[in-house]
Amino acid sequence: MFEFSDRLKVLPPYLFAELDRKKEEKIAQGVDVIDLGVGDPDLPTPKPIVEAAKKALENPENHKYPSYVGKLEFRKAVADFYKRRFGVELDPKTEIITLIGSKEGIAHFPLAFVNPGDIVLCPDPAYPVYKIGTIFAGGTPYIVPLKEENNFLPDLESIPEDVAKKAKIIWINYPNNPTSAPPTLDFYKKLVEWAREYNVIVASDNAYSEIYTGSEKPPSILQVEGAKDVAIEFHSLSKTYNMTGWRLGWAAGNKELVAGLGKVKTNVDSGQFGAVQDAGIAALNLPEEEVEKLRDVYRERKKIMTEALEKIGLQVYKSDYTFYLWIKVPEGYTSSEFVGRLIDEAGIVCTPGNGFGEYGEGYFRISLTVPTERLLEAAERIKNLKL
Ligand SMILES: *Cc1c(COP(=O)(O)O)cnc(C)c1O
Repeated sequence: MFEFSDRLKVLPPYLFAELDRKKEEKIAQGVDVIDLGVGDPDLPTPKPIVEAAKKALENPENHKYPSYVGKLEFRKAVADFYKRRFGVELDPKTEIITLIGSKEGIAHFPLAFVNPGDIVLCPDPAYPVYKIGTIFAGGTPYIVPLKEENNFLPDLESIPEDVAKKAKIIWINYPNNPTSAPPTLDFYKKLVEWAREYNVIVASDNAYSEIYTGSEKPPSILQVEGAKDVAIEFHSLSKTYNMTGWRLGWAAGNKELVAGLGKVKTNVDSGQFGAVQDAGIAALNLPEEEVEKLRDVYRERKKIMTEALEKIGLQVYKSDYTFYLWIKVPEGYTSSEFVGRLIDEAGIVCTPGNGFGEYGEGYFRISLTVPTERLLEAAERIKNLKL
């Protein structure tokens, strides 16, 4: 009797249905399934953050409607983080806004700047929200392929002149989910130049800036001179502090872009719970050793899994970033077929690359967010696979 709106009907089909069905079937058969599909950290939120939240719960100030744009103290903690980590100065009052998780901001942002029919440049493979937020705003996604021969960075020169002229936003995400590819400052410089030339907003998703396992820390696009003229960066506490359930993030950068997003949010939500923001302040002030401990865990897991996969002849994309492995499926398989074999023959769930877009075909993604013992078990099972 009630039909979904056209905007819901045009959403891309759910590609994981078959995989979910297989997983349920295996579990029903009593198979001990190891799920390396979802990118949700398995470790708990560090204690000092939880303690700060407990204390904040008792504060009656936090029981009222929160501020739309977020507590100034939280935004100041974000500004301190940018200064310390990237050497970037931000005005907490005008250049930072608190988000209910960065996904919320990413999904809402196009509503502020995209009119029906406007083009939004969306990378592929990618986090699906860039495309979906575009569709919800009535915009038209234009696919920018991320190819291994370009280290999974977009080739700006291949974007046709007329498309660039009509584009409103370009989405980027480095360190990248799903490919794990890092950004370079040189790429950010070229992108800012390109965006200034065509008057395009650069929306950068930097959720994985603190998840690195080598010695080079990934930069922020806001480090580039002139970036604040065109760019807004979305960030999150989810991955750095194991806080996916808390729903806290922020957007930072160009004042007008931050204000536009704020205007949308003022009309659809009432801000994040004050106690969660107090916990966020504690997180951002955590000693760096705490985050380093987390990086040590991912470092070890990455090594275990890469070795197991290479032992059976699989080609893992080499990267010191994110907690994902991006792997080529063996010759003769599609992504879905190979991921199907992994669940059927090893009881291991992974994400097929085409789930992130057509240019993800030929790859699959492993998330290193299960306890290390389980990962060792998965590595053993993989080593016994006959390809
Ligand atoms: C996990 C993730 C986020 C963070 O989402 P939150 O809503 O802040 O939990 C954003 N972008 C990408 C690409 C992610 O993988």
